[in-house]
Amino acid sequence: MGAGIAGLLTARGLARAGVDVTVLEAAARVGGRIYAEEIGQGVFDLGGQWIGPSQPRMTALAAELSLATFPTYDTGRKVLDVDGRISTYAGAVPSLSPLKLAILQTTIWRIDRAARRVYARDPWNAPDASSLDGRTLQAWMAATVPSRLVRDVMTTAIRVIFGAEPRDLSLLFALWYIGQGGGILSLVEVRDAAQATRFVDGAFAVPQRLAAGLGDAVRLDSPVERVDWTPDGVIACTPHEEHRADRLVIATPSNMTSLIRFAPELPASRRTLQRRLPMGATIKFHALYERAFWREAGLSGELVCTSGPVSVVFDNTSHDGRQPALTGFCVGAAALRVSEMAETEQRRVFEDVLVRGFGEQARSHVAFRIKDWTLDPWVRGCPTGIMPPGVLGTHGPALRAPIGPLHFAGTETAREWTGYMEGAAEAAERVVQEIVA
Ligand SMILES: Cc1cc2nc3c(=O)[nH]c(=O)nc-3n(C[C@H](O)[C@H](O)[C@H](O)COP(=O)(O)OP(=O)(O)OC[C@H]3O[C@@H](n4cnc5c(N)ncnc54)[C@H](O)[C@@H]3O)c2cc1C
Repeated sequence: MGAGIAGLLTARGLARAGVDVTVLEAAARVGGRIYAEEIGQGVFDLGGQWIGPSQPRMTALAAELSLATFPTYDTGRKVLDVDGRISTYAGAVPSLSPLKLAILQTTIWRIDRAARRVYARDPWNAPDASSLDGRTLQAWMAATVPSRLVRDVMTTAIRVIFGAEPRDLSLLFALWYIGQGGGILSLVEVRDAAQATRFVDGAFAVPQRLAAGLGDAVRLDSPVERVDWTPDGVIACTPHEEHRADRLVIATPSNMTSLIRFAPELPASRRTLQRRLPMGATIKFHALYERAFWREAGLSGELVCTSGPVSVVFDNTSHDGRQPALTGFCVGAAALRVSEMAETEQRRVFEDVLVRGFGEQARSHVAFRIKDWTLDPWVRGCPTGIMPPGVLGTHGPALRAPIGPLHFAGTETAREWTGYMEGAAEAAERVVQEIVA
């Protein structure tokens, strides 16, 4: 159930093991949180797009599907918009005073060290799991980071990673997630990090190729509304059909799984987990230009802005340079505010951010495309499910534990790179092993 990367890779793995599979997908397309469109002279991902060097499954999958990749452009200085002051900097560390810089580096070091102590497989068994899960990341930062400006910079990084505010996140959950991705800089940086590599034809080509390989087994426009199950099998009901099977792999985001009626009901811990695992909020936009004027000015196209409404912008020019583009992310509380605006107003707000960072030329775009993931009917947010205090520590064991014939995949269940395409691939690998075993 669900034709995102996790559902499609699970189906492919099971089919290769000789299992008869059907993939039920609610939407009229595959890909879930991965989707691209041809805009101007390039293909632009409106959802997930980057992979990094420490993501072996996605790297191998790209090669296996013969999908060409290329390095993300990161030559030149980055722009920092902090406290209404614009500055530029080179490298990974923003242009702050020596004292603030030392506090920032110490904060990153402390978070990464704490994250390494949270087990990737069973974070609920980590030392101090219960007390870590009883407070928010915000409370931890308020108590330990002695600079408001550094807290703002860290908050911006957290918003971009989770699509949520530090106050929304259990400390245990945040550390687990950050640890799985190799630490803060591994998650937010471009070079040698999660944003290192792009797909020439867009990441959407991955689910499209996987689905093509599965042929008729993929049924679009098939939202599962009810699942009747016994220890021996399931009946998954869509508005028009009933599908009987020995096993059902649930590769839908948890917030969407919570909308499905199960008979009999799922155990309390699983139900609670699903209900209390909402999605982050992300609006992604592309501004396309005739010339990459920021490159000409010696800028990389990366903009970090602590006061919103856009937290980060990257150069997203097509691989051949024919279609220059800047791509921005409006995330967390700002995304929920901007989501209520008309699209023309959203565009004006985003343009203003680009103009502040890159100058008046940023207003002269030739195309502008906005995708508000909070409105996507089958995902309802992005990039990932987030956990407030009291969820991972208490209900975490229900995350991937099979229930009779029901198995759980999806990036939220991953043990490496949860929240990312790599996590979706890892979850699929685990579920295939579970079922084949
Ligand atoms: C804006 C944005 C930027 C991102 N950037 C990156 C990035 O650069 N790199 C990266 O690695 N990751 C990124 N991500 C995250 C990445 O896209 C996800 O981690 C990954 O795609 C999740 O795959 P999945 O298969 O677990 O879930 P999904 O892709 O959410 O797939 C779940 C599927 O289930 C379907 N579904 C829902 N309800 C039902 C139902 N009742 N019946 C049947 N089907 C149903 C949905 O339609 C969907 O197709 C980003 C995501 C977004 C949105």
